[in-house]
Amino acid sequence: MTGTAYNKEMPLRQWVYMFRDIYFPLQNYGRSPFEIFTHLAKVFGAGSHYLFRSYDPKGAREYLAKIFAWYCALSNRIELDIEDALWEKYPSVCPRCLSPACECLEPPKKIDSERLTMLALENAQRRPMSLREWQVMFASIYRGPSGKQTVPASRDRVALVFARMAENSEKSRRPLVRIELSMARLSS
Ligand SMILES: [Zn+2]
Repeated sequence: MTGTAYNKEMPLRQWVYMFRDIYFPLQNYGRSPFEIFTHLAKVFGAGSHYLFRSYDPKGAREYLAKIFAWYCALSNRIELDIEDALWEKYPSVCPRCLSPACECLEPPKKIDSERLTMLALENAQRRPMSLREWQVMFASIYRGPSGKQTVPASRDRVALVFARMAENSEKSRRPLVRIELSMARLSS
């Protein structure tokens, strides 16, 4: 039995190890990183249907868990340290405006990688541990003290792309081509 080392308040990294123990030997070991990524994109698309089309919180919640599990599978496959990756990008501040509570305006500033690296070191004491603490950190970066959402509306485009991907992966036998097209459209 492996599950005993794991619990809800464990560090984020432990969640990745837990999914590795559950799935990796039997299911994910034979899949390429690209296959896992494709599955992650499909689950993402299907989840967005519950969030943005049918407004079904129960379905959205279930898919959020699946997205996280597949993201962990990808991290395992490419041996990515999920905590380091998150902290280097979000060291308790928004990577663009570098503020602890995002104050981004349109168009958002370019990312200053050197400054971000410095902040990751300076703020090391504040680095979250558990999944819950990471969630609290993101909530405080992207929501102002009033609880008002500060993410610019243009980022809704991302959600739309994933919603389209979900529809396409249901309809099409060649979802990958469509996903690539959607991504190309997003970045243009
Ligand atoms: Zn910002």
